[in-house]
Amino acid sequence: MSAKQPLPVQQIDPLAAEPETAAVVLSQTGVLLVALDPEGRVVHFNKACEQATGFSRDEIIGEYLWERLLDREQVEDVKSVFADLVKNPLPNEHENYWLTKRGSRICVHWFNSSIRDADGRVRWVIGAGLDISGKKRTQLEIEEHVARLNAVVETAVEGIITIDTRGVIESINPAAQRLFGYGADEAIGEKVNMLMPPPQREEHDDYIDRYLHTGEAKVIGIGCEVMGLRKDGSQFPMELAISEVLLPNRRLFTGIIRDISERRLAEKRERERLAEHAHAARLAALGEMASGIAHELNQPLTAIVSFSDACQNLLQKEKVPQEVITDALTQISEQGIRAGRIIRRLRQFVKTGTLDQEIVNLNAVIKDVVAMVDHEIHMHEVDVKLHLTKYLPGVWADKLQIEQVVLNLVWNAIEAMDASERRQLDIETIQHNNKVEVKIRDTGCGFSGNTDHLFTAFYTTKEKGTGLGLSISHRIIEAHHGELKAMPNSAGGATFAFSLPIMEAIY
Ligand code: ADP
Repeated sequence: MSAKQPLPVQQIDPLAAEPETAAVVLSQTGVLLVALDPEGRVVHFNKACEQATGFSRDEIIGEYLWERLLDREQVEDVKSVFADLVKNPLPNEHENYWLTKRGSRICVHWFNSSIRDADGRVRWVIGAGLDISGKKRTQLEIEEHVARLNAVVETAVEGIITIDTRGVIESINPAAQRLFGYGADEAIGEKVNMLMPPPQREEHDDYIDRYLHTGEAKVIGIGCEVMGLRKDGSQFPMELAISEVLLPNRRLFTGIIRDISERRLAEKRERERLAEHAHAARLAALGEMASGIAHELNQPLTAIVSFSDACQNLLQKEKVPQEVITDALTQISEQGIRAGRIIRRLRQFVKTGTLDQEIVNLNAVIKDVVAMVDHEIHMHEVDVKLHLTKYLPGVWADKLQIEQVVLNLVWNAIEAMDASERRQLDIETIQHNNKVEVKIRDTGCGFSGNTDHLFTAFYTTKEKGTGLGLSISHRIIEAHHGELKAMPNSAGGATFAFSLPIMEAIY
């Protein structure tokens, strides 16, 4: 900083000389008044300057303005404004920052002029300034806010369009330009309905009018899915969210647009995929059902064939008691009726998916089944022992289906004992708390590995097996809220057990 120099004569404070002048009045209104000599040294520094900067007159008078009150970046700029004023008699305006004593900055808008002597030589340069720091701060804040908002709008993935109350586009961000294929210059000033296919295109003006008059909103503040129309005439599905912006003197509508073509495409693919799956599942179910029918019908048909064979053999003999033939024919007829019932039952099951339930006595079912396979039991020389609990409570079941299960299990047991020396079949009924259990124990080949896969459809170890008996039985027992299990016997052979809830337990 330069040392204080004694003031030359012409640098006497020009404003202090006239205390009643406008300078005093201005000073009281908070206007900053500063006067510099032609070298740039301060010769007047009013009260408002003292208050705004924190410097006293004594600290500033005689100092070069740029050495005490400006930071370095501004010096050149201010010096050139000052030089202009010295050269040029015209007043000018300038905005700069003064440093305060505390080190902060105030922004001042200056109205500058020069005072000259009769020869036109500059005596003083005078500046009257307004502290606009507050205003400046607000302006900077607004500019920053606007810049930030613009950055968001400009880089948003969503299309953003603003329209006025006539439906005229005021702004369209880059994403919306890409979506619709219009540049900002083509879209701004046009009606927004050019981005809509009919019928919205025709209805849009009425819609805005109605909203403005009645406040009745169909889309505003609600959001909807509509079609958008591109410049090339193609359409795309979009999600539209419209909000109303109330400005102090007018209103605007902002629309945020998201292209949902991809989502729609994915949904369509998913629907097609599900339809394909459903179709495949239907085919599989159909196939399984067909195999199921074949399997179930196999049993009565086999029985019919064996009884017919037996009849033929008997008829070749000379003396055949008529009752024997009648008995065989009765069995054939019964098995035929049974086959019919199976078909009816399956058709009903497919149609309604329901069970034809009644109170069923499992002891009676077991006796019936054993009677049905009497022929095989003798053929395979199986010793059947029944251990039936007396006064067994009834179960609520579809009798034919449970009969089917018992028949499957007994049949399997007989086949499993084919190669065994001891062929004993034990069938037991046991009452537990709320269920009845049926156990079918054989002395057959048993299981070679674990039993998990036994209930899987088409699993079979038999040359002519279908692998469906156990999977169907399993499904039937599950449909009755029961359980079917397979266990190896410690002494060899297998035990299959199923349980069904007793009637009271169901209600
Ligand atoms: P299939 O009798 O046509 O093979 P199943 O579903 O009734 O079909 O039986 C599946 C398989 O379970 C049989 O092939 C056999 O390997 C096994 N299995 C069923 N019952 C017995 C049993 N009592 N003892 C041993 N293995 C059995």
